[in-house]
Amino acid sequence: MNTSVIAVGTELLFGQVINTNAAYLSRELQTLGFNVLYHYTVGDNPARLRATLGRALADTDIIVTSGGLGPTQDDLTKEIIAETMGTRLVCDERALAEIESLFKRLGRGMTDNNRKQAMMPDGATVFYNPRGTAPGFALKRDDKTVIALPGPPAELTAMFETSALPYLERMTDSVIRHRTLRFYGIGESQLETDLRSLIDGQTDPTFATYAKEGECSLRVASKRRTREEADAVVERAVREVISMVGDHLYSDKDEELRTVAARLLIESGLTLAVAESCTGGLFASELVSYPGISEVFDRGYVTYSNEAKTEELGVDPALIERYGAVSEDVAVAMAEGAREAAGVDIGVSVTGVAGPDGGTEEKPVGLAWMALADASGAYARRHMSINRGRNSNRRVTTLAMLDLLYRYLKDA
Ligand code: ATP
Ligand code: MG
Repeated sequence: MNTSVIAVGTELLFGQVINTNAAYLSRELQTLGFNVLYHYTVGDNPARLRATLGRALADTDIIVTSGGLGPTQDDLTKEIIAETMGTRLVCDERALAEIESLFKRLGRGMTDNNRKQAMMPDGATVFYNPRGTAPGFALKRDDKTVIALPGPPAELTAMFETSALPYLERMTDSVIRHRTLRFYGIGESQLETDLRSLIDGQTDPTFATYAKEGECSLRVASKRRTREEADAVVERAVREVISMVGDHLYSDKDEELRTVAARLLIESGLTLAVAESCTGGLFASELVSYPGISEVFDRGYVTYSNEAKTEELGVDPALIERYGAVSEDVAVAMAEGAREAAGVDIGVSVTGVAGPDGGTEEKPVGLAWMALADASGAYARRHMSINRGRNSNRRVTTLAMLDLLYRYLKDA
């Protein structure tokens, strides 16, 4: 069945509020096996809302609206839906009782426009609001259904889960289930090429690759009659993908590389210090985004100048003189220096050319050397970013460091 989402609210058109409800509803509807064909965004304007609803009803079977159910003048979604579907608003006694008791609990007086919220289209299935006052509803006429949900995201998601989801489930005979796998060290086109024998000629499960900055992901989906069937198909496909390109996989449940690396570090119990030059603390910041990292993350040095590398980490100035600050030898010395200065188990370092200036033939913008030192020694990795600007270079270099740490911990 085909669906449209209509988000109502002038604030959305002004760009003051991001339309997260449409994204949420689309994901949920897809997962239930409904095709989402259109997203409309319309202001709090009766004529334009009427026109939009008419268009959506002409093109699709189920329309889900968000917003405009509240007590104020500009909240007119209900009125327009009732009118378009050829019915009128009547007072829903349970909704009225719930609103009255809420106001009593809050010790506040009720106004007439609060009563307006208990008015529901005649014949609608009312969705009582567990998180607020405005109820939602589903209204069916012939083979068309309109589902109206409140605008505040917390209310919308709660009402979707408790009321709209079960309602929609009764309307569908298929379910879409999906998993997203994340890869580092393989490009999107290579990933697709390597999986060609699996992807070609498949209609279910489906495979979609996505390129992200410095990495890529793969979404495996299946649409079947039951959740169990779809889950089994996805599971089998995921196992096959892993057998083909598993070397590059770092998450089979859409987790960030920083999350996977931080979790492994905590599990290992190994303490860490980091010495960063070109990334300027970004690596430390990425790790610190993980709760609980304080158990193992000791400190970060942002040693940007040559002097700082020497003063903080004890890097021999002669080494910098001979090989340059961006070199394998200096990266190793930085990692070892950080490890020793902080008295930790592992030191990680990076030194590179972030750009836009400072690149040479031999050391172009985007080049970075990174190293990892532990009790048994140190090793370095050369990393070349596709130069998409200074801050992009910093981000993809940080990702490479996370991969360095992740692989070290995984193989430990
Ligand atoms: P209320 O009873 O709060 O008036 P309502 O159903 O009338 O609920 P709106 O007045 O349209 O909803 O929106 C209330 C608030 O919810 C908006 O100010 C906005 O912050 C948020 N909101 C509305 N629509 C969306 C949306 N599509 N995506 C994200 N947030 C939204
Ligand atoms: Mg409102």
